[in-house]
Amino acid sequence: MATMLTGKPVIEAMREDLLTRVAALAERGVTPGLAIVRVGERPDDLSYERTAVKRAEGLGIAVRVEALPADATQAQLEAVIDAVNDDASIHGCLLFRPLPAQMDERAVCDRLAAAKDVDGISSASLAGVFADTGEGFPPATAQACLEVLDHYGIPVAGRHVVVVGRSLVIGRPVALMLLARHATVTLCHSRTERLAAHMAAADIVVCATGRARGFGPECFAPGQVVLDVGINFDDEGALCGDVDAAAVEAVLGPEGALTPVPGGIGGVTTSVTMVHVVAAAERAAR
Ligand code: NDP
Repeated sequence: MATMLTGKPVIEAMREDLLTRVAALAERGVTPGLAIVRVGERPDDLSYERTAVKRAEGLGIAVRVEALPADATQAQLEAVIDAVNDDASIHGCLLFRPLPAQMDERAVCDRLAAAKDVDGISSASLAGVFADTGEGFPPATAQACLEVLDHYGIPVAGRHVVVVGRSLVIGRPVALMLLARHATVTLCHSRTERLAAHMAAADIVVCATGRARGFGPECFAPGQVVLDVGINFDDEGALCGDVDAAAVEAVLGPEGALTPVPGGIGGVTTSVTMVHVVAAAERAAR
């Protein structure tokens, strides 16, 4: 059976480091501040909000939730973003998406100051990932993939990584971030031909498509490392990833490894957001 690359020890190690950094900021009179901006009351947003608030407060990060009604206008949301940009006590902002249909999501994302864009949603942050300049912050989920690989000592330089999914939230940025780490990257998507063969030829596979247990044993090979980014619900309402883990584990074998869902990349993503808030506070305090 494959090794399970669980998120818990990664989260614990990140927490230890963050507590030290928050204490160092406190000595300088700085409390890292996170604004959570939510439009409407989607259950998954509310659930993530509760997790993020708890995680932040446990680390000594001050959180402010700015909630707007689902029928809020673009101007109302932009006013909230402007206030976040102008507030020196707020170092990072988490904006839940997708935004309601009446909003121009790209315009809102690009209004957020890159220095406070701790989830990598602005074009400036994405350009930072593309050109590897460090401007803004990379998308938290993409960074979470690298944190898991690093924590478990899995090298990427020179190795073949297949990323399945090309969204701006995860697929594209993680492909570029792995490329910056000298991986040889193949980026696949819904139009990719011979997808299973591409995946089975990789050393490391990142699945980020949103297809509940969509990838079975035919897509994998012994010894591979598989990062399952998917957070999906099956027909019975059970939380699951993109990988049919129960069937794939045996194919990966004892030399292989897989992130579980739940308990894998998802929780690490929340910690990465907190790391970015603390890093933003450190940058502001320089
Ligand atoms: P999107 O729907 O924006 O993108 C999905 C991507 O998968 C697209 O590029 C699409 O290709 C590709 N795709 C869809 N079907 C197939 C297929 N059959 N074969 C190959 N590629 C396919 O989703 P997101 O990127 O936002 O999210 C992906 C998953 O990651 C979801 O389960 C989501 O819940 C999860 N997620 C997890 C997070 C975490 O913290 N762990 C955070 C964010 C997302 P094409 O471009 O051709 O349409």
